[in-house]
Amino acid sequence: MEIVLYLVYLIASVCFIFGIKKLSSPKTARQGNQLAALGMLLAIIVTLFDQRILTFEYIILGVVLGSLIGAVFALKVQMTGMPQMVGLLNGFGGGASTLVAFAEYDRLFTTTANFEVPTTITIILSILIGSVTFTGSLIAFGKLQGIVTGKVVKYPLQHPLNALLLIGVLVAGIIVVINPYDIELVLSIVGVSLILGVLLVLPIGGADMPVAISLLNSYSGLAASMTGFVLNNNMLIIAGALVGASGIILTIIMCKGMNRSLMNVVMGGWASAGTEGPAADSKTHKGTAKSIDSEELAMLLDSVSSVIIVPGYGMAVGQAQHAVRDLMNVLEKKGINVRFAIHPVAGRMPGHMNVLLAEANVSYDLLVEPGDVNPTMETVDVCMVIGANDVVNPAARDDETSPIYGMPIIEVDKAKTVFVLKRSMGAGFAGIDNPLFFKPNTRMLFGDAKASVSALVSEFKET
Ligand code: NAP
Repeated sequence: MEIVLYLVYLIASVCFIFGIKKLSSPKTARQGNQLAALGMLLAIIVTLFDQRILTFEYIILGVVLGSLIGAVFALKVQMTGMPQMVGLLNGFGGGASTLVAFAEYDRLFTTTANFEVPTTITIILSILIGSVTFTGSLIAFGKLQGIVTGKVVKYPLQHPLNALLLIGVLVAGIIVVINPYDIELVLSIVGVSLILGVLLVLPIGGADMPVAISLLNSYSGLAASMTGFVLNNNMLIIAGALVGASGIILTIIMCKGMNRSLMNVVMGGWASAGTEGPAADSKTHKGTAKSIDSEELAMLLDSVSSVIIVPGYGMAVGQAQHAVRDLMNVLEKKGINVRFAIHPVAGRMPGHMNVLLAEANVSYDLLVEPGDVNPTMETVDVCMVIGANDVVNPAARDDETSPIYGMPIIEVDKAKTVFVLKRSMGAGFAGIDNPLFFKPNTRMLFGDAKASVSALVSEFKET
């Protein structure tokens, strides 16, 4: 039986690895997801046949309840609510690791079995990382959901206090490794770790929360991996390590996209210069922006040869991706070369724009990265910015005093003409002015993204 277990775990691990590989392209992402899910199903089934399973009633109850809750969430949660849902799920993962590690400690404690040093170490680490992930993720969820303040929260001696608590947990952990029969001390490690999770994430502003969520995702993987060591389960070790590693890679990509340092995220509570989350608003517009209507815009587009569409959060809010695909089709019919420039942090989660455009059947080949499109921007006839703001803000390149200075942008202002489709002169997520709107080569088409793009498509169809 043991050999079958290990063999199936090996097959499941291979499914995970190839599944993740396939996730790297929208073309194969669905397949990758299915492959990884199949691997997980195999791993679960074979684990249930393991001899250490005592009762199936609770497991079946858990599977039914969990699946039901998961299905309702998946069906109900809007695409724009996805970051907080991921945050919540990370938290559950961390909480589960803590519970499993503590249950294993309790089992060894009550059966007065021998505590082996490596097992005790991994129990402590599993509890520490799992608990921090649990409460940290709940706070992250609360911030994005608007239940907890999205602002940067500062409190006295923030970093020394966090360092003290962490050192306290580690010292207590060493004491438990030396003398494992101290359940009160283990419980206090759980308690302090839970508090640490709150204190680490509470100071982080809402604007930086998705990066924190990505990091917590990595933590939840690490916690699962530790739990794998506790239970001596290779599958959990591998799956946890994969989540931990991919989470940290994603965090680094997001940090680069937003010009944040990873160390700041790890330390928790860095306050980005002036970026206080989505609440900040900007009212200090300089100069006047020139607007245009959809009829004029359609006429202007008639005579161009290349268009780059830059989608942003507003396309997601307006659910304009299908209308944007229709626009692409009518432009292409006219012989216009259309491409989509995708900023890595456009929208509110990594890959947000890619997912929406894939949903609307926009070919992946038409998607280009800022690094590829920026050097040739001067040759582009038209850039159409659809519901994007911060990711095309030239202040990030030109204004050293700007809170987003240094953040890589799509340099649409260098194109011959720029059309910006949004509802008002309102700010984006960073809550700051965008000089792009006042440039001589920029025209604003005000309105909801879906309505504006649909109107544009109708103009083309009428002519
Ligand atoms: P953005 O800077 O947040 O701007 C979005 C713009 O969309 C707003 O200015 C808004 O202007 C417009 N809008 C909203 N609803 C609309 C609708 N129905 N129709 C048309 N326009 C609409 O978005 P972004 O350029 O995509 O930049 C993303 C921001 O989020 C960056 O600051 C990034 O750092 C941050 N962020 C992203 C991630 C990620 O993983 N993607 C993670 C963390 C933070 P109006 O109100 O005038 O319409």
